[in-house]
Amino acid sequence: MGKNRVYRVGLGYDVHPLEEGIPLILGGVNIQHPLGLRGHSDADVVCHSITDALLGAANIGDIGEHFPDTDERYKGISSLKLLSESVLLIKKNGWEVVNVDVSVVAEEPKLNPYKKEMRDNISNAMNCDLNSISIKATTNEKLGTIGRGEGIAVFSVALLKKAEKK
Ligand code: MG
Repeated sequence: MGKNRVYRVGLGYDVHPLEEGIPLILGGVNIQHPLGLRGHSDADVVCHSITDALLGAANIGDIGEHFPDTDERYKGISSLKLLSESVLLIKKNGWEVVNVDVSVVAEEPKLNPYKKEMRDNISNAMNCDLNSISIKATTNEKLGTIGRGEGIAVFSVALLKKAEKK
């Protein structure tokens, strides 16, 4: 163990508020819905949560440190791009992705029809197998802020493995 450990797990969490008249983008999919997520980038809470899980597993900080929301470069940016960049960062640090598992907590809309496209986008951005990306959706059973439909929250875990030395 210690220096020789070969696997590391990371946890990511993010939440964004829902508002009328802005696009809802989850996992890079533009979803037809009267409400969208507010944020500095495209507010793709799924990509943000995965990004933090990856950075956490590699122990190289968090999304706010690497992609600050005060930076004009990230204004309105597709968060799939942040995801790609975070994968490059973890690779630079000697890690490769084993798998990512995501739980999206949203009262509305139903996300089942969009899961495959989200997984396609995410696996393409991360340059990994489709099979390595799992997306699940649940509601908050009408409890609390998320349950009242005021926002969408996402939890992710990522498992990394030490990259083979070339
Ligand atoms: Mg965010």
